[in-house]
Amino acid sequence: MPAYVEPAPIKDKDNPFESMMSRFDSAAKLLNLDEQTYKVLSAPTKQVTVSLPVKMDNGDVRVFEGHRVIHSNILGPSKGGIRYDMLVNIDEVKALAAWMTWKCAVVDIPYGGGKGGIKCDPTKMSEGEIERLTRAYTLAMLDVFGPDRDIPAPDMGTSGREMAWLMDEYSKAQGITVNAVVTGKPLVLGGSVGRIEATGRGVMVSAFAAMEKLKINPYQATCAVQGFGNVGSISAKLLHERGVKVVAISDISGGYYNEKGIDIEDALAYRDKNRTLAGYPNASTITNEQLLELEVDVLVPAAKEDVITDENAPRLRCKLIVEGANGPTNFTADPILQEKGILAVPDILANAGGVTVSYFEWVQNRMGYRWDLDQVNRQSDQIMKTAFDKVYAASQKYGCSMRIGAYVVAIDKVATTYKLRGVY
Ligand code: GLU
Repeated sequence: MPAYVEPAPIKDKDNPFESMMSRFDSAAKLLNLDEQTYKVLSAPTKQVTVSLPVKMDNGDVRVFEGHRVIHSNILGPSKGGIRYDMLVNIDEVKALAAWMTWKCAVVDIPYGGGKGGIKCDPTKMSEGEIERLTRAYTLAMLDVFGPDRDIPAPDMGTSGREMAWLMDEYSKAQGITVNAVVTGKPLVLGGSVGRIEATGRGVMVSAFAAMEKLKINPYQATCAVQGFGNVGSISAKLLHERGVKVVAISDISGGYYNEKGIDIEDALAYRDKNRTLAGYPNASTITNEQLLELEVDVLVPAAKEDVITDENAPRLRCKLIVEGANGPTNFTADPILQEKGILAVPDILANAGGVTVSYFEWVQNRMGYRWDLDQVNRQSDQIMKTAFDKVYAASQKYGCSMRIGAYVVAIDKVATTYKLRGVY
């Protein structure tokens, strides 16, 4: 295995921004990044926090806290989703925004990185309440958003529905329809075909590229997928369709295991009918934690951050991890995975299919034109494959993990652009 590059000591292992920075530091060291560029790239360009008063259905006014962080706009307008979740906080949004900078640079699209979030529990809010909250957030961020400034998209807890409200509120304020201000929109509003499946498709392409490197025959491979939301369910479906045996899936209700393989179409139909996988009949139940420790070829963590840590990493029995979620592996697990010889295809590469097709959506909006699914899939598959090869080559060249290799590719691109644009 390539040598492990010791990350710089960090202050708080549960702080996602510090966790991101420890990987950034390892890559910066390998690149011999000069101090000035290091300082510029590690400080988010802009952080906006707003209070959003919203009238609830019962007549009460509740004030929600919303954030938008622009980590970098060196490569172009910042790009990144908006998360609705009770755990949203500024450190998490900062880390997610930085990951977007590196993600866009890894797949070589002309965007910087940003991320937004509102601390709320959308599962406990009515549609009207979520709509008023989304519109209030958009109004508060009118100066931040813009097709040439900062372009939001869906993330955890949001979907095309929220993007439609955002596009409408922003457009009303401008007096014209500005569909390129947001991506992940419903198709009739200028969304792109293939956008909903794009992240899962990129996970599948990454998994196949990595299996080829590890000489794992996909037709004999087994896989466990944690999370059955958009990313997890589509990843599972596409892997299953291509002959990989998906033996375990999970959602908030728990894990479901069948050693003969789970029919993902059947599980999707069950989930669509029952809202969750709870009670899914064609598998035995396991916990989400047990799923991670199954003896499988491929593990796809596609649920949330920090599920693989120094605590459970020693018990992992997979050969390959393909990160569908953002930040599923805490930096404390990195050396353990390296030691165990588990190849991890990092989030900023593996789940970049989503933002890649967001880029296509934005391009189509600006051209006033539509591409067909074949064109979208062909071009995004090509971008993912090229990015995978570049990251793999960097990991070989620098003798580091693919994760640090991805940071090396990304930081090198952003740093070079920064220097060429001129420093003042
Ligand atoms: N939220 C997604 C991500 O984390 C998509 C971002 C986008 O399409 O801008 O990559």
